Amino acid sequence: MECMSNRSLSTFLVPLCLTLPSLARGEKDAPAVFPVPATVSSFCQELEKKFTDYNWGKPRCEHFQWLTVRKTAKGTPLVWTTFGEEKSAGAENTTLVLCGVHGDEITPVKFCWDLINELKTNHVFKDKMVVVAPVVTPDSFFIPKPTRTNAAGVDVNRNFPTQDWKGEAHKKWVQNYRKDKRKFPGPAPASEQETIFQMNLIKRYRPNKVITVHAPLTLLDYDGPSLKAEAGKSAKELLEQMSEKSSGYKVSNYPVFPGSLGNWAGKENHIPTYTLELPNSDPKETQRFWDLFKDSVIFAITHKMKPTVN
Ligand SMILES: [Zn+2]
Repeated sequence: MECMSNRSLSTFLVPLCLTLPSLARGEKDAPAVFPVPATVSSFCQELEKKFTDYNWGKPRCEHFQWLTVRKTAKGTPLVWTTFGEEKSAGAENTTLVLCGVHGDEITPVKFCWDLINELKTNHVFKDKMVVVAPVVTPDSFFIPKPTRTNAAGVDVNRNFPTQDWKGEAHKKWVQNYRKDKRKFPGPAPASEQETIFQMNLIKRYRPNKVITVHAPLTLLDYDGPSLKAEAGKSAKELLEQMSEKSSGYKVSNYPVFPGSLGNWAGKENHIPTYTLELPNSDPKETQRFWDLFKDSVIFAITHKMKPTVN
């Protein structure tokens, strides 16, 4: 399918905006100060350049049906694609996969790309749905020297409106991270378009599980319903299987932070949230990582979870 223009997709998706009135704020786009890929077509062109730079071959971006509603403050469309049929209350088994949350973590972007190619070619979707946002923070990925933070200098994985954000986010940033610019949580909770984008995907699709791919901590982390309780049984099983299917990849209980996705989606909204930290950000390693985690992520997608009650 042709890459649809951003305008036509936005028009097409107006009802989606209307279903999320409380999240429809922040739509005022700041004027772009340098050329940005303002449409999905130019997003695809930028992506193709990156793929060439990293020697990843052709992304075949136009072969996927991209959806977009929101843009970054710079004007770059925030895109996602889906596999399977969306039912009004969410498919029975819905998985949300997020990559490129931190723009300087290069390998996760290719990982999501390998995943969507695999899903498009080799999988039938009858009773499941997969939602993939492969470049959550595009402005920090597309620039010549990618950065962890978005164009406004915010770590979007510290910007979710968790209950502890107002009391703790800035305090911890100062005390524990000595104002490390790479981990700035933002001026206010959910101040960033990239954060609202992820929140809206969760609110719209009500995923039974979320997989977010990062690098380079070399671990698999879980946040969500307690693995010791009955409600966490299927979540625990999945965590164990994901590790087993990736040659015993290390499972670690990494701490949550004020404003992190694991804290907001996992702890506060009770959605089993799996953080896959790839071993590094070396673009030459992407095939190895796909080979290592392919079975694990495909298993995760097919694994049925108990319905999440919010
Ligand atoms: Zn990261």
